[in-house]
Amino acid sequence: MIPVLNLEPMHKAIRNEVLSALEKVYDSNWFIMGSELEQFEAEFAEYCSSKFAIGVGNGLDALYLILKAYGIGTGHEVIIPSNTFIATALAVNYAGATPVLVEPIVGTYNINSELIEQSITSNTKAIIAVHLYGQPADMDEINEIAEKYGLVVIEDAAQAQGAHYKQRKVGSLGNAAGFSFYPGKNIGALGDGGMVTTNDEQLAHRIKELRNYGSSIKYTHTSKGTNSRLDEIQAAVLRIKLQYLNGWNKERNMIAQRYNSQLAGIGLILPEVPVWALPVWHQYIIRVSNREKVQVDLKNRGVQTLVHYPIPIHLQEAYKEYSYLKGELKLTETLSNEVLSLPMWPGMTEEQVDKVCQALIEVTP
Ligand SMILES: *Cc1c(COP(=O)(O)O)cnc(C)c1O
Repeated sequence: MIPVLNLEPMHKAIRNEVLSALEKVYDSNWFIMGSELEQFEAEFAEYCSSKFAIGVGNGLDALYLILKAYGIGTGHEVIIPSNTFIATALAVNYAGATPVLVEPIVGTYNINSELIEQSITSNTKAIIAVHLYGQPADMDEINEIAEKYGLVVIEDAAQAQGAHYKQRKVGSLGNAAGFSFYPGKNIGALGDGGMVTTNDEQLAHRIKELRNYGSSIKYTHTSKGTNSRLDEIQAAVLRIKLQYLNGWNKERNMIAQRYNSQLAGIGLILPEVPVWALPVWHQYIIRVSNREKVQVDLKNRGVQTLVHYPIPIHLQEAYKEYSYLKGELKLTETLSNEVLSLPMWPGMTEEQVDKVCQALIEVTP
């Protein structure tokens, strides 16, 4: 079976390096808020061309802490794309604000900036732009709207570490960005992890306090913060992985190009990349109308696939309080019925890509 993701080739290649880094942390007997975190924060900030990076517990916390640090909460609204992982919406709810869902565009499936303005009210405080599947959202358009209405712009870059928008790295294109180092992301920890990047010094300072019980001086608490820190063990591993990230993203891109050329013209809807985008292919998404059958047929031919995401946020039981109706967000609902994520991981061989394509050619009508 060709899996949808296989971390083994990446992890095999860096095994000795990682194990000796783990050993170093173990022997240091210092596990939280130490030199590995400090160095990783500096290296990740530089990687994103951003002034500050603050390690946190996970990607959800990264987004939630940005909102909280900007004072966004009860009575406020935050615009997010309607087709994203639920964490984007949950971060808004955790802050006490209301997520307002805006439909995507066809092609990149990122937020449709032409639909943002009609969703802005006097309570709107921020827009979270998600770089879905590793494709950067159209940040110039989003920033322009935000400027007009005085809104904060937050990037959800959980799926896009290393992606470029008009020659600039994601993570430095809004007021702040949230990253996830969940193991399956393009750069993943050996467990949970996350990061906030920003050029806003005040915000960086507030998040540093908030992640650590609202404290920057031990036992002095300036706000009711939380406990959301990036462990030394994870920082040490991520420092090593960061050196490989560009190479891994290049491999993902080569796989995507091979999919593009072999799957063209067989009646599938393939991803579209705007001229200004350099995506990092967290997922390679195709659209098929008879998805369930295609998925089973592929499985029978030894190809595993996944669906990102099968139930849109507005139709989740967790969001029934907002009384969204079926049919209200049409494109999002269509996508949830049609999208299919193909196998994609650094180290996937050309033979494996070809086998996936061959299977797809056989099963598409
Ligand atoms: C993974 C992900 C998150 C959440 O990250 P965690 O580290 O799992 O909390 C947020 N937004 C998007 C788009 C994601 O893919």
